[in-house]
Amino acid sequence: MSKKQKKMLTRIIISFVILAAEMIIFGVTKADIGIWKLALFLIPYLIIGYDILRKAILGIIHLQFFDESFLMTVATIGAFATGEYAEGTAVMLFYQVGELFQSCAVSKSRKSISELMDIRPDYANIEDENGKLIQVDPEEVEIGSVITVKAGEKVPLDGVVISGTSAVDTSALTGESIPRDVCEGGEIISGCVNLTGILKIKVTKEFGQSTVSKILELVENSQEKKSKSENFISKFARIYTPAVVIGALLLAFIPPLLTGGEFGKWVYRAMTFLVISCPCALVISIPLTFFSGIGGASKAGILIKGGNYLEALANAGVVVFDKTGTLTKGSFEVTAVHSDKMDKDALLETAALAECYSDHPISLSLKRAWGKECDPSRIENVKEIAGHGVKAIIDGKTGLAGKTILAGNMKLMKAENISEAHDCHHPGTAVHVAVNGEYMGHIIISDALKEGAKEAMEGLRNMGVRKTVMLTGDDRRVGEQCAKALGIDEYHAELLPADKVDCVEKLLAEKPPKKSLIFVGDGINDAPVLTRADIGIAMGAMGSDAAIEAADVVLMDDDPRKIPLAIKIAGKTASIVRQNIIFALGIKLLTLILGALGIANMWAAVFADVGVSVIAILNAMRAMNVKK
Ligand code: ADP
Ligand code: MG
Repeated sequence: MSKKQKKMLTRIIISFVILAAEMIIFGVTKADIGIWKLALFLIPYLIIGYDILRKAILGIIHLQFFDESFLMTVATIGAFATGEYAEGTAVMLFYQVGELFQSCAVSKSRKSISELMDIRPDYANIEDENGKLIQVDPEEVEIGSVITVKAGEKVPLDGVVISGTSAVDTSALTGESIPRDVCEGGEIISGCVNLTGILKIKVTKEFGQSTVSKILELVENSQEKKSKSENFISKFARIYTPAVVIGALLLAFIPPLLTGGEFGKWVYRAMTFLVISCPCALVISIPLTFFSGIGGASKAGILIKGGNYLEALANAGVVVFDKTGTLTKGSFEVTAVHSDKMDKDALLETAALAECYSDHPISLSLKRAWGKECDPSRIENVKEIAGHGVKAIIDGKTGLAGKTILAGNMKLMKAENISEAHDCHHPGTAVHVAVNGEYMGHIIISDALKEGAKEAMEGLRNMGVRKTVMLTGDDRRVGEQCAKALGIDEYHAELLPADKVDCVEKLLAEKPPKKSLIFVGDGINDAPVLTRADIGIAMGAMGSDAAIEAADVVLMDDDPRKIPLAIKIAGKTASIVRQNIIFALGIKLLTLILGALGIANMWAAVFADVGVSVIAILNAMRAMNVKK
């Protein structure tokens, strides 16, 4: 419990003890001490209710007085005015009990998200001039510096391991509880915890650009994006509360004027009506449900940037995938090198050099296959053409003329008029290479499907997704093979990034209006589609920063099986929201009628109100429990 919550609990206890004592004394003695009785009951009333009274008065001053505090204040003062001192105090007391309960529930949801927040590193170890390790603020560490992470410490910045082997715990980021092994040359992301060995890491990103910062930013902003249901509730409350106040006024004056009955009885009923009508259960439980859903998803390594996306996920109808890096591992193996004019190793070197600056999975794989460090002084004029490949000049700075290298697919060869280029009978993705306009041959590489990609498709079908589509810039044969192996309904190959947008536009137009379209990508060449789809899901661990920014949902461990899981969490959240709306409004309506008829008194009203809130809150918190 926080300090504030403890203080509230103390107020509740004190006020409860005084109220109970007074009720017993006055109940037993039946003493009639006039104005003194009022004064005695005002003590527990003010102890418990002073902040609500203040809020109500401030609301009136700012002319925004149709809120809960206003309703509570009017109702309790009304109770006092009709001589029901104990009831007036009790209403306030129970209202505050409900408020305390809510605030505890919110803290609990927040905790699961702040466990994620706990990934924020406090320091980074770097060596000073004497080779001694010193702790510095991660924000001060520059790209290229070498940091040391000891066992048990958090990895503060993204980088590449240059020495040491260890196991790292990525559970805070991915929800995956099994530690991952890292070794020399491997990439490592900030936010995971180094478990066993000492690692030396060469920093590749500034703190502000690192994975941890990105995630924290995401989570912090997630509450600003309100779901439709939340917006509905706040609009609803704006109309509802004044309507209730008018209803209460009518109830207090019309029946006694018409029937000539006593005013006191009807004023009391009107006050009961006000207490019952307080919409707290809805106002609190709906945002809390979305919040819990987002918290539960984040525990499973799924970051959802707002309640609105949870709502859209729950209605997923079409799921569109990128291939490379999304459904496949994106780590290609060179399976063949074909060249009539060049030594095979030289061909690989030429291609790898031209790819020196690219982050495309193909490029990374070629560089890995080549196995040597790129010397940047050998390359200039690099142009990366999305969906085609790269063009660069190599060895121009050594005084020689330099060679213009093209490395990419047939589209690139056609665009550059390399007429000799030809397709290969070998299965796999071909990277064609041309030097100074002359075709040199091609390198065949192939990628492996991600573990779980097939299961993910089955999962999606079970979650009620009607259609799965794959869009790829890769070769038609490679695309077909992949789509068949995974059981994807529809595929389109040899697409440029702009073609992917066109495809998604078409699919958006075709889908049923109430269903949403999800695009899943790794962000290399597909950031525009991520934004265009109803929901963009990005692969967080492997994906580019642009993707994480453009996406609405980020999968921290790149596991496609998390997509049906996300839809499941969203569906559960949406159904809890529905349950709460129906339950709260139903009980309210019932007690409102009973109150107006004089069957339910103020005690019943208070219990109904607090009870509904408590049940709705407990229900809301179920959204946080995610079975893995
Ligand atoms: P996908 O849609 O499968 O993720 P991309 O749109 O990223 O693929 O790329 C489509 C195709 O363009 C690749 O299959 C490859 O043939 C070619 N390509 C793109 N970038 C490069 C590169 N850096 N080097 C070589 N080929 C590339
Ligand atoms: Mg891609």
